[in-house]
Amino acid sequence: MEESKLISTITERLDSLSNFPKMKENKSISALMQENGISRRDFMKWAAGMTAMLSLPSAFTPLMAQAAELTDRLPVVWLHMAECTGCSESLLRSDAPTIDSLIFDYISLEYHETVMAAAGWQAEHNLEEAIAKYKGKYILMVEGGIPAGSSEFYLTVGPHGKKGAEHAREAAENAAAIFAIGTCSSFGGVQAANPNPTNAKPLSQITSKPVINVPGCPPSEKNIVGNVLHYILFGTLPSLDAYSRPKWAYGIRIHDLCERRGHFDAGEFVQQFGDEGAKKGYCLYKVGCKGPYTFNNCSREKFNQHTSWPVQAGHGCIGCSEPSFWDNMGPFEEPLGDKLYESICADATADKVGVAILTVTAVGIAAHAAIGAVKKDKN
Ligand code: SF4
Ligand code: SF4
Repeated sequence: MEESKLISTITERLDSLSNFPKMKENKSISALMQENGISRRDFMKWAAGMTAMLSLPSAFTPLMAQAAELTDRLPVVWLHMAECTGCSESLLRSDAPTIDSLIFDYISLEYHETVMAAAGWQAEHNLEEAIAKYKGKYILMVEGGIPAGSSEFYLTVGPHGKKGAEHAREAAENAAAIFAIGTCSSFGGVQAANPNPTNAKPLSQITSKPVINVPGCPPSEKNIVGNVLHYILFGTLPSLDAYSRPKWAYGIRIHDLCERRGHFDAGEFVQQFGDEGAKKGYCLYKVGCKGPYTFNNCSREKFNQHTSWPVQAGHGCIGCSEPSFWDNMGPFEEPLGDKLYESICADATADKVGVAILTVTAVGIAAHAAIGAVKKDKN
């Protein structure tokens, strides 16, 4: 669709959404920002960043700001399955709230076990009521792997002892959009790691409804909030890769935009933590970085208000947004080397990403070794 037509379609959608009843009557997002010392200018800068992150032209920035102001019109049901709550914590636990975390606060969370006051019978009642009241309109976000099949009883929730899988299936049935938040919900995560004692499965294997995977351990707050905003703007599924991850967030490899990439290409590697190479910021591949195998936007968007990310801090990527990373990417501080790691390709440009990258990496390291040897000879 051409840009001007898309802008008018989105404008119409946002206008009609703004007629929906406000779920947070007492406070606007602007007031919330002001209270937390965030100026309108900062907010618009953030909106411009979000627009770029979703790969939209800058003309969409005012619409992005408007979409953020409307996040209280969409009810969200957030379920916890077998997990550590790290995905929720990544949004909730910051001493200086980011704009993303404020927007998460502002979203109309109709049910979220970590942040709601209700417990026991009342909590279960709230969930049933939210599902019935907002039938077909709510966004469902599920965190955690889900014990399945004859092992469903490994996870029961609430005073009726209802199985987690049952909760997830029922909530998915009438949701307008479904997001699997984190690697556990997207791919099973640590719960599904060998020997997978609870037969944990990803959400997509529990429901037959389309599920958008937002993996990461945890996913960044930007990727969670970005998905909500994308849904508010377009009301449709984003373009997805082979693992049902939105391409705007998971379309590039960590390695592609890593600040240490120049050292990888030049064959300059950290040989062990704390050595001279580590002090010079060399590439972490030889101490286990899985950036070449991992699709995520960490190297571009970073964490903690864009201040840093694991590779910048000195540890390699452990591939947390890839399926079965607990089983496939270890040991985390050793390179995969010639261990076979095959994966269906997420970007459809190569057949087997693991094999293709391993070959290139092996060539890169061999080239480095050769160059190093020549340099040594010359010296
Ligand atoms: S291997 Fe890791 S540290 Fe090295 S360039 Fe790639 S992503 Fe960066
Ligand atoms: S750098 Fe790698 S391990 Fe760290 S959050 Fe990003 S994808 Fe996960």
